Amino acid sequence: MALLARRIVVQGIVQGVGFRPFVYRLAQKYRLNGWVLNSGEGVQIHLEADQPQPLEAFVKELTTLAPEAARIEQVSVQSAPPEGYSRFEIRTSRRDTPLETGISPDLHVCQACLQELFNPVDRRYRYPYINCTHCGPRYSIILALPYDREQTTMRPWPMCPACQAEYHDPSNRRFHAQPTACPHCGPTYFLEKHGEERARGYEAIKQCARLLAAGDIVAIKGLGGYHLACDARNARAVEALRTRKYRKEKPFALMASSLEEVQRWVLLSEDAAQLLTAVARPIVLLPRNPEARTALPESLAPENTELGIMLPYTPLHYLLFRAGAPSLLVMTSGNRSSEPIAYRDDDARRRLQGIADAFLIGERAIARRVDDSVVRVTPYGKLFVRRSRGYAPAAVTNMPVKQPVLGVGADLKNTLTLVVNGKAYVSPYIGDLEYYSVRESFQQTLHDLTAMYRVPLEDTLVVHDAHPGYHSTQLAQELGRQRMAVQHHRAHIYAVLAERNAWEQTVIGIALDGTGYGDDGSIWGGEVFVGSLKEGLNRIHHLFPAFLPGGDAAARNPVQAAAGFLAQLAELPDLHAPPFRFPKTFNLAFQLVQQGVRAFPTTSMGRLFDTVAALLGFTQPMTFEGQAAIWLEQQARRSPEVPPYPFPDLDYRPLLAQVIADRQQGRPIPQIARAFHQALANTCVKIGDRLARQFGTNIVVCAGGVFQNSLLIELLHKQIPSTLQLWFPHAVSPNDESISLGQAAAALQLG
Ligand code: ZN
Ligand code: ZN
Ligand code: FE
Repeated sequence: MALLARRIVVQGIVQGVGFRPFVYRLAQKYRLNGWVLNSGEGVQIHLEADQPQPLEAFVKELTTLAPEAARIEQVSVQSAPPEGYSRFEIRTSRRDTPLETGISPDLHVCQACLQELFNPVDRRYRYPYINCTHCGPRYSIILALPYDREQTTMRPWPMCPACQAEYHDPSNRRFHAQPTACPHCGPTYFLEKHGEERARGYEAIKQCARLLAAGDIVAIKGLGGYHLACDARNARAVEALRTRKYRKEKPFALMASSLEEVQRWVLLSEDAAQLLTAVARPIVLLPRNPEARTALPESLAPENTELGIMLPYTPLHYLLFRAGAPSLLVMTSGNRSSEPIAYRDDDARRRLQGIADAFLIGERAIARRVDDSVVRVTPYGKLFVRRSRGYAPAAVTNMPVKQPVLGVGADLKNTLTLVVNGKAYVSPYIGDLEYYSVRESFQQTLHDLTAMYRVPLEDTLVVHDAHPGYHSTQLAQELGRQRMAVQHHRAHIYAVLAERNAWEQTVIGIALDGTGYGDDGSIWGGEVFVGSLKEGLNRIHHLFPAFLPGGDAAARNPVQAAAGFLAQLAELPDLHAPPFRFPKTFNLAFQLVQQGVRAFPTTSMGRLFDTVAALLGFTQPMTFEGQAAIWLEQQARRSPEVPPYPFPDLDYRPLLAQVIADRQQGRPIPQIARAFHQALANTCVKIGDRLARQFGTNIVVCAGGVFQNSLLIELLHKQIPSTLQLWFPHAVSPNDESISLGQAAAALQLG
């Protein structure tokens, strides 16, 4: 019998990522006996040896050589009595324990699988559903936990003997690879045109590539939903897609065949290249390569200096490019306008039939909708614009709460956060609860999370927004017995504190946002707080108040928002005259403010951005959320550094007066936009610095949708004194996707 033994528990994302076969191979390497199994607490390992050295080497390589997709959060090693094993074995899962191990997000196809995919003698040559324990679908195919083939959408395809042999062989890369399949036993793709099947298997992929090259629009089933694809360099195809999709100006996401191809179209930094090639394969927003600008149709991303671009991530994408699809494809979500992305075949056929010329349909069902993730690059690292495929629903942080907690999020960019056994799982981006189908997704995601982690809703604390009119607030009333409301902008700040495990840390919180229901019932969005997660946040300062004439409609019309802000100025020029040329809607809105009719008090920073954009020429209604602010940021990026406008203590009146004067004197628009950005960064630093001293902290937390502006973050980074730390959200987005996490974190205040 061996002299020494160790009991090891590994926690984090270690299920469904090839962790047990990896442990097996590592044990073989050091000739260690014992076993490995998946349990409720994570992966458990028992090891035996006569000497300590191989045990130590094993423990070291356990973290350094772990599969790319595993995320190890904790490894505990304890001595144990030897039990006399004569070999190392993988034990089957214990099903009856509560599950603490995270559900893995969907993963990019790995290098080993790609090599087989293009190897003519491999039995999975050109097979679009190739995968292994290191890669492939997870969350998008799971019907229930534990993660077993029978509980995935691969259930209808029993494995052939060859696949079974691999599945049961601990030394094989496909050992217990739940979605494994091959051309003999598994699902395939087929091409459909006018409701008729035209080709199957690789022939279907080849024909699809040909259609794309010829300028057709094809609906292609991906990992978490349908994409609408066309040749990004074919102006006629891109414009047809815009018209048919009713998508006027919002930029289309792109997929490039390789990193070299990406480099032709955008300016690629080292950090951006790393994000593009990460296992999650997100869409990365990057500045266009000015030399290549005219080679792309303007309608791809009208008036936009950035492109959202991603690399292929499923075997199908690689096959399409290899089969001759154009090397730069539009890959936009398969929906009409702002509806949620289609993921069920019949629904896709019905909703996309007037848009797509053909359908490339995969037989494997998608269990739930998962959108592509979108990120930006900042001096503080990656910034989520949308956190979904590849990242969600991984746990983002630990939280010291005993009872399960559910945060139901905000309405516009809804997500859910479930805290169970001290881990906070943030769902993928769900969408705008205004749509019925999004409310259905909300219910499905809620069911998914609570069923997978076996959380009874009766015992769950449900936390919702303080807005009485929110759909999410209404939905919360139907859930659980215990409920709690959290103010929107406090939730923004709490989310950042939660991801840093800063429960008691006193901070200054600056929440800059479009909209959110305030304590006094007015529309907040430019708020400064002091306090901590444990004790709560006090509002100590805010943007100088303005009015929002017409309520929510003002959020879509910059001149309408402008009326509510400009009415606070002592004098105004004729804004209908050049250079402003405001449309008549401005006058109507201005009168509402003056008469106090349907004009709602607000401190929204988002609307101040809209106001400045309107003064600089963005006077038409927006066709997508945040459009005016994005336009303003891009204008500002065209200008070198300039002195900031006055913005004393967030009083915008001297600032707007200066913007108007400069505009009248013909100062270039980019310079005005830049001076505005610098004014905002400047005043945030000044207020943060002053209040931090006053309240004895050195931490300033920045959150809210306005911080999706990476120029603002760059300017803050440059100006912040070394005595202060700036905290931005990293694990979740700064926009309303983070509200559910902040809500759930507020449960700590109940003790
Ligand atoms: Zn693989
Ligand atoms: Zn097979
Ligand atoms: Fe918000």
